[in-house]
Amino acid sequence: MSQLKASTTVVINSIAQSKKAAGIRVYNLSVGEPKMVTPQVVRDAACAFIQNGDIPYPSPAGLPKLRDLACGWMNKNYKTDYVQNECIVTTGGKFAIYLLLQYLCGKSSSIKENPNDIIDVIVPAPYWVSYPAITKIMDANPIVINTKESNGWKLTPEELKAASTKNSKILMLNNGVNPTGTIYTRAEMQALMNTANELDLIVISDEVYSGLVYSGDEYVSCGSFPEYKDKTIIVQSMSKSFSMTGWRIGYIFANKEIIDVMSALSTQSTTGVSLIAQYGAIAAFENAEAINSSINQTMKDRRDEFVRAYKKHFGKDIENPKATLYVFASLESLGVKGLTDEEFCIRALEEVNVASVPGSSFGQPGYVRFSYGSDIEDLDGGLESLAKFIKSL
Ligand code: GLU
Repeated sequence: MSQLKASTTVVINSIAQSKKAAGIRVYNLSVGEPKMVTPQVVRDAACAFIQNGDIPYPSPAGLPKLRDLACGWMNKNYKTDYVQNECIVTTGGKFAIYLLLQYLCGKSSSIKENPNDIIDVIVPAPYWVSYPAITKIMDANPIVINTKESNGWKLTPEELKAASTKNSKILMLNNGVNPTGTIYTRAEMQALMNTANELDLIVISDEVYSGLVYSGDEYVSCGSFPEYKDKTIIVQSMSKSFSMTGWRIGYIFANKEIIDVMSALSTQSTTGVSLIAQYGAIAAFENAEAINSSINQTMKDRRDEFVRAYKKHFGKDIENPKATLYVFASLESLGVKGLTDEEFCIRALEEVNVASVPGSSFGQPGYVRFSYGSDIEDLDGGLESLAKFIKSL
């Protein structure tokens, strides 16, 4: 039997979707998806390209215009200075990480001393489900660091130093953090980048939630530290900031050598990203300011609605998540006794049709992740059903 496990976030969302398709009223608080229609200008641009009728193979690194626009968006918003040959378009952010780890952990990796070395990838927990899973698929070894809730679930330089081994070559960072909603300040990020550099680690920074910060805090990209630019790789996506999950458009920003390898890998795998999606993405970047701020405002409203509904149905306050789409709550705070997080999520989905994701999938048993990105009607109704269900246990 294969050891390969499917992604819990994707599997639970699929179960919720099939229940919905069967006519069941499901409250889908599982998947991290800003549920909003894709902006009209984006759909129009993709349709116009289809109507034009000439839909050839894409260039493996992506349309030059799109790569320029992606760099311009990063540089303007996040104090980076990328140019076209430091950017590749990928089939979503997840595949960007997949390609990066495939190369960096593989036999032809430039960061291996010997082709047979096994690379240790440092992954702070709670982590997004796919980081350790992809690491294992690539025959590399995830080194998990358990961050502390009392420290806002933030990785510290001391924890990083203590966990690093002689085979540690990569730090897999995520800011804002899925599933906790944490964001790092510039000082905290600077300290982590300094330590990663001392430990000679390549930093892969997953920044797909950069557009979903609600606290007014600066979003600090790891690409905004010029002194470490060469050893820093940024993963971005249009799924969250542009509400384009199904379009599957992501990016890697890195030095030209890495981008050239990624482009070669693309020629041997997908041949590049669908041109229909790329033309939609061009229109999205051309209207980025309006789209990003409308999505940010809508998700902030849903976060506020979640917090309000939680207070109404559970009778207590929860801290306002600063970023992302998630509330990460302990079973204890929810008042759940006698069930594991997995048992709780399964029973909530089976018995009251509320979909959520167990903390164990994120390396943090005893917790549950709720996404407030779903339809606003799901939030109040979902929390009401959940509170009643917990009382009935
Ligand atoms: N990243 C989102 C989540 O955590 C989407 C699903 C996935 O790809 O994991 O829910």
